[in-house]
Amino acid sequence: MARVKLTDVTKEYGDVTAVNNMNLDLKDGEFITLVGPSGCGKSTTLETVAGLTKPTSGTIEIGDREVTNLPPKDRGIAMVFQNIALFPHMDVYDNISFGLRLRDFPQEEMDERVDEAARVVQLQGMLDRMPSEMSGGQRQRVAIARAIVREPEVFLMDEPLANLDAKLRVNMRTELQRLHKQLDTTIIYVTHNQAEAMTMSDRISVLNKGELQQIAPPLVCYNEPANRFVAGFIGSPSMNFARATINDGQLDTDDYSVDFDATVVEELEDGDDVEMGVRPEDLYLADNREEAHDPSQPLGVETDVLEPMGDQIFVYLKPVGESGSGMGDVEERQGLLMSVDPDTDIVEEQSIEVVIDRARIHLFDMQTGDALSHGVVREAATAEADDGEAEAGDDGAQVS
Ligand code: ADP
Repeated sequence: MARVKLTDVTKEYGDVTAVNNMNLDLKDGEFITLVGPSGCGKSTTLETVAGLTKPTSGTIEIGDREVTNLPPKDRGIAMVFQNIALFPHMDVYDNISFGLRLRDFPQEEMDERVDEAARVVQLQGMLDRMPSEMSGGQRQRVAIARAIVREPEVFLMDEPLANLDAKLRVNMRTELQRLHKQLDTTIIYVTHNQAEAMTMSDRISVLNKGELQQIAPPLVCYNEPANRFVAGFIGSPSMNFARATINDGQLDTDDYSVDFDATVVEELEDGDDVEMGVRPEDLYLADNREEAHDPSQPLGVETDVLEPMGDQIFVYLKPVGESGSGMGDVEERQGLLMSVDPDTDIVEEQSIEVVIDRARIHLFDMQTGDALSHGVVREAATAEADDGEAEAGDDGAQVS
């Protein structure tokens, strides 16, 4: 296993900047996922590490060595791609050992390595099968075994599960996690599938238009997105966004107002606009407000379309008529999406009251999209700590 470091890596194709000034510092043994929409530069980034693409500028280090100008075979890496290129006329043993044979490995060591790799990917007893006799998942495991036998310092995987059916993808996800634990190798994994990124990675790096947006553990990207792009990209269904104006301790959107503690974002003043983001699970029916950490005042809304998903119901909300809410222009309004328990008694076209968990409202700068705050009230933990001190008889322990 090895550390991988990209410093100011840029890759231009003519006028297109595929990767722009990328800095990544991956620890030994880390499982890192590169995620982002199609065309954001994930594969190009991976290819620069592999040595398949030379960066226009910047450097790449693997372990203690700078490898920027080394060919792929001298980098200590192995790649697994989306398209599983097995040799159809070779059996599993020959496919797995192909790279070792090219390097004239002794037969005994080759047998040992192939047996071990086959055990890791659970293909024991199948070494004499032909690729045509195997399922898609088994073929992908052969491709992974072929990478394992090379004992690389770093695995590079580009959408390796993309061609598998949904159930197999989920199984293979678990297998890859097991594999990572067992091999203890650094893995850089490219996917546009955020469920894969969330479940497998130690850290996710979110890319957009060739630029790194955030690199952090999955739940940090989810709970504390660095900017509006990450907030909208991570999480399904996506976060609700609305423009809000700061007004005397309130966030006013076209449809509703939420009280907030102006001291959480000191650079904001009355009259400033911010982008406000709320995840669907951070809206609650007003009757269940105690489930929120810090419920807002109730907002009157009307249910629109319901989508029962089995484990939850997605409820599209629309504002009650102009006379009901008394705010803004109905035509311009964006609906809110809320997720509720599947046994919730709710129907379409119903007037209801909801609350927003103020501890989970995100604010973003209107111009830059950078996160200004996660939560619009002082941390509940701080309040509890202060309460504790007050009970202990410390008169000075008031929240300032
Ligand atoms: P992703 O893997 O995130 O889908 P890519 O890294 O494949 O994105 O591509 C990033 C950008 O670089 C895209 O705009 C793509 O069209 C462009 N690009 C990638 N490879 C080449 C190439 N060989 N020649 C020209 N443009 C390329």
